[in-house]
Amino acid sequence: MKVLKIDHIGIAVKSIEEAKNLYSGLLGLKHEGSETVAEQKVTTAFFPVGDTEVELLESTSPDGPIAKYIEKKGEGIQHIAFRVENIEEALAELKAKGVQLIDEKPRRGAGGAKIAFLHPKSTFGVLIELCEKEE
Ligand code: ZN
Repeated sequence: MKVLKIDHIGIAVKSIEEAKNLYSGLLGLKHEGSETVAEQKVTTAFFPVGDTEVELLESTSPDGPIAKYIEKKGEGIQHIAFRVENIEEALAELKAKGVQLIDEKPRRGAGGAKIAFLHPKSTFGVLIELCEKEE
């Protein structure tokens, strides 16, 4: 498998509107748009930084995964996403090497990307997202 770069860092927030004051207002990053992924009960907002991005994640529902995450751990860094060349190949290779996967098959993420998560039990406590995007 080939990892191309850190695609983005996912940060769980209670309110994108409020967090924007930091990322756009104080840090001066450009807000490049928001998208709601209904199946994941999440709204995402992207702020490009150099060759990578900050992804803010706000739950659309109290029972969504991001709401549950914040309830348990508070706001903060929720996942790190690595861009890979071929996500199916990467998942197959990692699985064969004993890495526990949350998603055996890629699902659709923001921006039409194919994404899949690895289990933090297999990754020293970090929720790792793999993503493949057409650019
Ligand atoms: Zn992500």
